[in-house]
Amino acid sequence: MLDENSYFMAIEGVRVRIRRFNTVVVGSGAAGLNAAECLWQGGERRLAVISEGLTLGTSRNTGSDKQTYYKLTACGEEGDSVRRMARAIFDGGAVDGDTALAEAALSSRCFFRLVELGVPFPHNVHGEYVGYKTDHDPLRRGTSGGPLTSKYMQERLLQAARDQGIPLFDRTQAVEILIGEAPGGGKRALGVLALDLERLDDRDRRYVVFPARNVILATGGEAGMYEASVYPPEQVGSTGLAFRAGARGKNLTESQFGLASVKFRWNLSGTYQQALPRYLSSAPDGGDEREFLDEFFPNPGQMLDAIFLKGYQWPFDPRKTAGFGSSLIDILVYHETVCRGRKVYLDYARNPSRLESGGRPDFSRLGPEAREYLANSEACLDTPLDRLGKMNPAAIKLYLDHGIELGREWLEIAVAAQHNNGGVAGDRWWQSEIRRLFPIGEVNGSHGVYRPGGAALNAGQAGGLRAAPYILHNCREDAPTREELEKEAKNLAAAIAYGEAALSRSETPLDLPGERQAIGRRMSRQAAHIRSADGAAQALAEAAEQLERLEGAAAISEPAQLGSLYQLRDLALCQYVYLFAIQDYIGRGGGGRGSFMVRDPAGDKPVPGLPDLFAHRLDGGRLAGLIQEIAWSAGRCQAYWRPVRPLPPEADWFETVWRDYVSGEVFS
Ligand SMILES: Cc1cc2nc3c(=O)[nH]c(=O)nc-3n(C[C@H](O)[C@H](O)[C@H](O)COP(=O)(O)OP(=O)(O)OC[C@H]3O[C@@H](n4cnc5c(N)ncnc54)[C@H](O)[C@@H]3O)c2cc1C
Repeated sequence: MLDENSYFMAIEGVRVRIRRFNTVVVGSGAAGLNAAECLWQGGERRLAVISEGLTLGTSRNTGSDKQTYYKLTACGEEGDSVRRMARAIFDGGAVDGDTALAEAALSSRCFFRLVELGVPFPHNVHGEYVGYKTDHDPLRRGTSGGPLTSKYMQERLLQAARDQGIPLFDRTQAVEILIGEAPGGGKRALGVLALDLERLDDRDRRYVVFPARNVILATGGEAGMYEASVYPPEQVGSTGLAFRAGARGKNLTESQFGLASVKFRWNLSGTYQQALPRYLSSAPDGGDEREFLDEFFPNPGQMLDAIFLKGYQWPFDPRKTAGFGSSLIDILVYHETVCRGRKVYLDYARNPSRLESGGRPDFSRLGPEAREYLANSEACLDTPLDRLGKMNPAAIKLYLDHGIELGREWLEIAVAAQHNNGGVAGDRWWQSEIRRLFPIGEVNGSHGVYRPGGAALNAGQAGGLRAAPYILHNCREDAPTREELEKEAKNLAAAIAYGEAALSRSETPLDLPGERQAIGRRMSRQAAHIRSADGAAQALAEAAEQLERLEGAAAISEPAQLGSLYQLRDLALCQYVYLFAIQDYIGRGGGGRGSFMVRDPAGDKPVPGLPDLFAHRLDGGRLAGLIQEIAWSAGRCQAYWRPVRPLPPEADWFETVWRDYVSGEVFS
């Protein structure tokens, strides 16, 4: 039915569907759906979720050995508090104190909402939600619903949204955030331009405009930038939309990388390493099999312990490359694949040769930690597969479910991108530089250099519980009118013109998969866990050239390619901004930290036998008190460095808090 909230309008000679709402949530991962749910619970009914695929995204399609959710302790006698948890998040380095405090303060609420929705977090016989220690966690704040925690979260939240009747626009891809001038200066969001992916062939139905007072951007991590990736293949990311609109990037240098299988994308953490598989490499044609770790670990015990520790210490960490630490393995995998052009595998059928003596495993070669762990797990068994089966049979079944029999097939591996710690900058309400644009979930750069394991899922939920009350108290106006849209949303017509022009050009159409591959290869080689000043500069120059080409006279051959074209343009922009951030960071003297190393010919090599190009230097926390932000405007990037916002002082006098809450002052 057509009315003032749903009608057609001509823009650039194309008939465009208009659908007006107060708030549009872009993305249907755990973060976006939770935000929609919070708004609905708060009484907002002029609300919609749009998603390129309601069952796509990282939350729905990923997991790990024991996928972790970080929360305030809810069991036992160990004293925990909001402030202590905030401190643990803040101490990750380059973290803003106000967002760390909000993530901690809202942790229990977020967690128990998920429990109420039916996410199977385990509790004991007394009802205590028990936990375990995760990385960068001083207490036992980690919990898990099993390997698929985030999938359960997304499924339950999607069901809740359906039960409530929240309008869900499936197969709807946002291609531009509409921007106007904000009263008093700056920019504000006015809605979203999207493609109806089911109607791309119909010129008069393919574009949909969602005029809105608030846009919650919950598009997940920018996974599509990397060739070596353990994100679900369909997750691409849309951070470029925010940069194009004028929002700033924050901590873009910080991501997580680690070992993953290639054919079926899965993190090889936990028991996959504790079972002590055989690491081997081969020539590309499958010949010349070799146990390549042996060359660099002089002592079998050190090698086996490093493999074992990789289970707990999954993300690459440059501090753990020295002294035969577990991250040396990531370096050696990179050396074998990228520098030597070979393929690297894990073999679960046979032991590493150096574990064996007289054809049997000799567990006395292990250090005490690994030996005791295997003994306590009753897993001192003959083969890696036997040991894995004893400790975690589901880990074997998981691969079997994806057509891989671990006892028969070598598992090809790579060092893969897994998480963006950085992203779009937000304030304490998760509002970006652009007023009424709220990046939440992985697209928000609230994490710093290190983060407690599981903090990503908590932060994604907390973001919705910040943006929603802010909107409910401050931003309830009707959606922009037709006149306002025509007058204010200056980028709307240009965004439609971009796609239509690409369709009408007679030049050779773009090789879309080839362009995408070029982005992925560049990023995985120069901007993943091994970086250098020269590599970043060269990659940035190439990215600039590619972006210019895609922004300029791009041509495509059919309307079905429109979605990929817009996506590619955003990826190319995003890559450019990320590479600029990396170049700026290294130019400022920044060294290795978090999950990347920075090459330096004057630095140290992790082990003597490696080529000189692995000489590197660490940052040692030198820049941890600062946050780098990047703004992109008119084809140029600008870097800004500022001190972290400190942890706010305590504001816990009940009478004053109550007064400010009642007056609404607290939502400012
Ligand atoms: C292998 C792996 C293991 C992980 N393990 C953990 C863990 O143990 N603990 C932890 O805390 N975190 C973990 N993470 C990270 C965590 O899973 C993610 O950060 C989180 O699920 C992201 O949720 P999200 O809602 O922000 O984004 P997503 O779940 O990725 O959702 C993004 C949504 O946006 C949609 N979308 C994107 N662009 C557009 C567009 N232009 N228009 C419309 N829709 C769009 C997508 O289709 C999708 O619906 C892991 C990640 C990986 C890859």
